[in-house]
Amino acid sequence: MKTSTLLATALMFGASLTAQTNSSYDAQFMSWPTYSGSDLELSVNDRGTSFRLWSPKAQEARVNLYDTGRGGKAYRTLPMTFDAATGTWSASVPEKLYGKYYTFQIKHEGRWLDETPGVWAKAVGVNGKRAAIIDLATTNPEGWNNDKGPKVENFTDVVLYETHMRDLSMDRSSGIANKGKFLQFTEQGTLSPQGLATGIDHLKELGVTHVHILPMYDYNSVDETNLQDNTYNWGYDPQNYNVLEGSYSTNPSDPATRIREMKEMVKALHDAGIGVVMDVVYNHTAQNDESNFELTAPGYYHRHWDDGRYSDASGCGNETASDLRQMQDFIVNSTKYFAKEFHIDGFRFDLMAIHDTETMNRVARELKEVNPSVFVYGEGWTAGDSPLQPERRALKENVSKMEGVAVFSDDLRDAVKGHYTDAADRGFATGKPGNEETVKIGIVAATDHPQVNYKKGNNSKFPYAKSPEMVVNYVSCHDDLTLTDKLKKSMAGEDEKNMLAAAKLAQTIVFTSQGTPFMFAGEEVFRDKKGVHNSYKSPDSINAIDWNNKARYKDQFDYYKGLIALRKAHPAFRMTDARQIAKHLKFDKIDSAKTPNLISYSLVDNANGDAWKEIKVIFNGSSEAREVNVPKGNWEIVAQDGRIDAATPLATSAGGKVTLAPYSALIMHR
Ligand code: CA
Repeated sequence: MKTSTLLATALMFGASLTAQTNSSYDAQFMSWPTYSGSDLELSVNDRGTSFRLWSPKAQEARVNLYDTGRGGKAYRTLPMTFDAATGTWSASVPEKLYGKYYTFQIKHEGRWLDETPGVWAKAVGVNGKRAAIIDLATTNPEGWNNDKGPKVENFTDVVLYETHMRDLSMDRSSGIANKGKFLQFTEQGTLSPQGLATGIDHLKELGVTHVHILPMYDYNSVDETNLQDNTYNWGYDPQNYNVLEGSYSTNPSDPATRIREMKEMVKALHDAGIGVVMDVVYNHTAQNDESNFELTAPGYYHRHWDDGRYSDASGCGNETASDLRQMQDFIVNSTKYFAKEFHIDGFRFDLMAIHDTETMNRVARELKEVNPSVFVYGEGWTAGDSPLQPERRALKENVSKMEGVAVFSDDLRDAVKGHYTDAADRGFATGKPGNEETVKIGIVAATDHPQVNYKKGNNSKFPYAKSPEMVVNYVSCHDDLTLTDKLKKSMAGEDEKNMLAAAKLAQTIVFTSQGTPFMFAGEEVFRDKKGVHNSYKSPDSINAIDWNNKARYKDQFDYYKGLIALRKAHPAFRMTDARQIAKHLKFDKIDSAKTPNLISYSLVDNANGDAWKEIKVIFNGSSEAREVNVPKGNWEIVAQDGRIDAATPLATSAGGKVTLAPYSALIMHR
C-alpha cells in the first residue's frame, strides 16, 4: 500500500482536531451478539454437513448448493434457522458434501442480497464466487506433519526479503518452469543464462531468513479464468481472506490445488531453512456493498462516519472495524488459521494503523500460542483519516503500546535515500546533509539513546520503540521507486559506479542497524522497475527481475551476501533490549554542520555476547572521500570501499587516520 507517513504524522500531532469516539453510526453495532465458534459457516463431520452464518440482523437466510464452482443453477436451497443468542443462522444435511459448492444469501431490508461464499470460506471455485467443500487433510503434501519453519529466538535475528509471487520467476532469464506459481519455490537447481542460481537457490545463497510475499490470499483484480492474459497485480484488493489467490496455482478451477501447492511452497522454503511471511490486508475490502462482509452482515464489518457513509482510511473506498468484536475475532482467527493450516511464520499487516492496538496485541499473543516464532509487523500508518481515535490506532508512534508487534521505520528509509514523494531528493547515503540525526534514530531502532536527539529527527520526534524488536529497518520496498530507480533519478548524471556504491552504503546502514532488516527482492542484483514508482498493475516487463543482472552486478550480489553473513555471525548488530543498545552502542562525536554525511559509532564490550570486543562502523554518504580518526589499535577491516568479508579480514589497520571512499562504509573490529 502507498506509504502515507506524512499523513500519519500529521494525524498524531493534529490529534485534537480529529479525536472523537467512533462514529455515532457505528455505535449501533456494539450491542450485536457475536459468535466465533470453529463451526462458523461450514463444518463437515460424521453427522453430515452443517452451515452456520453469523448475521444478527438478517430477516431470513439460506444456503444454495451447487455441483460446480461456476455456472449452472443451485441443485438445492436450504432455509436457515436463527439463533438470537449467537446471531447465527443454521442449516444442515446428513451427508458429507465433499466436492460440492455453496453460497449464502440473506434477506436485508426486505430484499434478498446477492449470493456470497461468506467470510470464512477456506476453498472456492474459480474467481471465488462460491465456496467449495473439501477435506483439507487431503491437501497436505508428504511430510507435512513434520514440517516446521525456522525457530526464531529474537525478531532482530530475522532477515526479511520482500517479493511478489511473480517477480522472481516471470522473466525468461529465471529458468523457472512454474512462473508466477506457488510451485516456483519447489524448483531447485534453476539457473540464469550465465549459470547463476535463481529462485529458491538464490534465496539460500543470499542468506535471508524469511521471504515476505505480497498478498497470497484470494484477491479480486486478476481474472482466474483468463490467465493467458498474464495480468499482474500486487493484490491489495482482498476478496476471500481465508482462501488463496487462484492465479498462483496451476489449476484455479480445482479448489484443492491452490491449497496443496501453497503448502508445497511453504514446505520447500522450510526445508531450505527459510520462513514464510504473508502480507495481510484486513484493513479494507476490494468492494464496498458487494464485499462478502456486507453481503453477510450489512454495515457491521466496515467503519462509517456519523452520516453512515463508509469511512476510508485505506484510500481504497472503505476501512474495516477491528474495534468491533466480530471483526477483531475475524482477524485473530484468520491469522491463526494460516499459522496452523499453512505453517506461516509471519504476518505483515498492511496499513496496520487502521486496526486498533488492542486487536494487534491479541493477534500477536494468540499467534504466539500457535507458534512462538511467528513475527508480526506492519505499516504503522493509515492512508486517510479514520473514525478510530488516533490514540487507539496501531500507529508507529503507538508501537510501545503493543507487545510482539513491530513497525516499519520510515525514519531510516527517507533519511538514507531521500524522501519517497520526491524522486530527485537525496538522502544521507547520496550526499544530502541534514539527515544524520534521523539515520541515528534508525541505527538505534528508535529506542531511547543518550546520544540521539529525537527533536532533530525528520519524521518521529521521540523514541517510539521500547525495544529494537519493535522496528523494521529498510530503504525500499514494493511501494515507490526501487532503490536502484531512486538512485538513478536522484543521482542522474553521475557515473553508475557511484549509484552502486550508494546502494551498498544504504543497505550497509540497514543491515548493521539495530532492529530487524528488510530488503526488497532483486536489489541485491541492482534490480529496477524502469522508473515506475507505483507498479501495482504494471506488466511483468516492469515488475519481473531480469536475472541477467546477477552476472552483470555480481559484485553487488556478493556484497549483499557478505552483509547478511556479517549480521548473522555477529549478535552485536542484533541486540534485543533498548538498555543494551544505550550501553553498548557509542556514537563518535562528529559535528554534522562541519562534516555532514558522516556517522561513526562503536559497538563496545562484546555487545550482546559478540566474539568481537569492539566493532567500529563508519558511514560516509558524501561524494568526497573522508578522513576519520580512529583510536590506535590492531584493527581488522571487515568492510571497506565496497568490499566485505566477515570471515577473513580484508586488511588490517593500526588506527589513527583512516580514509573512506565516497559513498562507502568502513567496518572494522579490534
Ligand atoms: Ca482471485
